[in-house]
Amino acid sequence: MRRISIFGATGSIGQNTIDLIAREPDAYDIVALSGGRNVVQLAQDARKLGAQIAVCADETCLAELRELLAGTGIETAAGETALIEAAQRPADWVMSAIVGAAGLAPGLEALKTGATLALANKESMVCAGPLVMQTARAHGAAVLPVDSEHSAVFQALVGEDLAAVERVIITASGGAFRDWPLEQLASATPEQAATHPNWDMGQRITIDSASMFNKALEVIETKEFFDIDPSLIEVVVHPESMIHALVGFNDGALMAHVGPPDMRHAIGYALHHPARRALPVERLDLVKLGALTFRAACETRWPALRLAREVMAEGGLSGAVFNAAKERALDAFIAKRIGFTGMAHVVEQTLNRVSAQNGLIHAGMSLDNVRAVDHLARETADMIMLQN
Ligand code: NAD
Ligand code: MG
Repeated sequence: MRRISIFGATGSIGQNTIDLIAREPDAYDIVALSGGRNVVQLAQDARKLGAQIAVCADETCLAELRELLAGTGIETAAGETALIEAAQRPADWVMSAIVGAAGLAPGLEALKTGATLALANKESMVCAGPLVMQTARAHGAAVLPVDSEHSAVFQALVGEDLAAVERVIITASGGAFRDWPLEQLASATPEQAATHPNWDMGQRITIDSASMFNKALEVIETKEFFDIDPSLIEVVVHPESMIHALVGFNDGALMAHVGPPDMRHAIGYALHHPARRALPVERLDLVKLGALTFRAACETRWPALRLAREVMAEGGLSGAVFNAAKERALDAFIAKRIGFTGMAHVVEQTLNRVSAQNGLIHAGMSLDNVRAVDHLARETADMIMLQN
C-alpha cells in the first residue's frame, strides 16, 4: 500500500486528489490530511479515507475538529508546528496543495523524509526553487509538477535532452478580464475577478489568473523546475485552455500537451508517475472543438508578466519578495482596500524598496532567509498600501 499525505486537502487541488484516491481505497494508506479552517470537510475526508492524522492550520478550529473526529481513533492537531510534524511522518507520496508561501515548509519537511513531492504549491518554487531542488537531491526525493503547464512541459520532456530545448511556451487563458477594455480594469471587483472562464479553482489562484500574477509565478516556476533560461520561456494567451504548454526543440518541432482543463490529469500523472494509468477525465473531441486560438500576452494589460522577468533577472530571494507582496496585495484587493490594477503597483513598489535594502535579496537561499525576506516584503507592501 502506498502511504499518502495531502496538505491542503480541503482546497480545490486537495479535493481533486481525494477524488482520484478514493476511487482505489485499497491501494492507498492515508497518513496525514491537512486543511485551513474548513474542519467539517477535513473531518469528513479523514473518516472516509481512514487517515492517521488530521491537521488544521487554524488553531482556533482544533476543538471543533476534535469533536468531529471523536471516537474514530484519528489523531488531530493544529497550527504550523503540527503541519511540520505531520509532514515528517513517513509517506511515499505527498501532495503539496496549500495555497501561498505557507506551503513551503511542510513540502521541504516531506522531501527530507525522501517522499515524492507532488507540487501544486507553485509558491514553493517561486520563493525557494533552488532550496526545494537541493533538498530533494540531498534526500534522494523526487519533486513532480502538478501545475498543469509544468506537468505538460514535464511530459513533453520525457526522453528528451534539455540541451535540445529551444523554447518553452506556457499558455494562459487570460482570465476573467482578457476581453475587457483596459480602462475598465481599475474598477474590476474581486467577485468579477474570481470567475474563471475555463478552470474551476480556488478563489486566490482564480483572481491571480485574471491579473496574470498566476502566470507570472508560473514563468518563474518553469525556470526553477526545469532550470531553463528565462529568455527561452514564453507566455501565450490561449482562451480555450486546451493546450497547457508546448516545448520547442532545435529541429523546429513543437511538442504540445493537449487536454481538457481538469486538474485530475496533472494530479493523476504525478500520482502514477512514471506509469500512465487510466484517468476519469473527459476525452477531447477535436472535431467538436473545431479551432484553437492564440493571442499575444500584452504586458500593458498584465504588468505581472513584466515583473516576473525583472524578478528572474534579479535572482536571489526576489521571488520570495514578489510572492509575499503579491499575497498581501491580493488580500487587500479581496478586502476591497485596493483596486485590481493597484495590485501590480504595490508589488512593483515593494520589489523596488526591498531590493534597495542592500544585500538582503542576495543573503543566500535558506528557509530562514526566505522567511525573513517574506516577512519584510509583507510589511513593506502593507506600508505602501497605507501610504497610497
Ligand atoms: P484553495 O484555496 O482551494 O485551497 C488551499 C488549501 O490550503 C486549503 O486546504 C486551505 O484550507 C489551505 N490553506 C490555506 N491557507 C493556509 C495556511 N496559511 N496554512 C495551511 N493551509 C492553508 O487553493 P487551490 O486552488 O487548491 O490551490 C492550491 C495550490 O495549488 C496553490 O499553490 C495554487 O497556486 C496551486 N494550483 C492550483 C490549481 C487549481 O486548479 N486549483 C492549479 C494549479 C496550481
Ligand atoms: Mg497553472
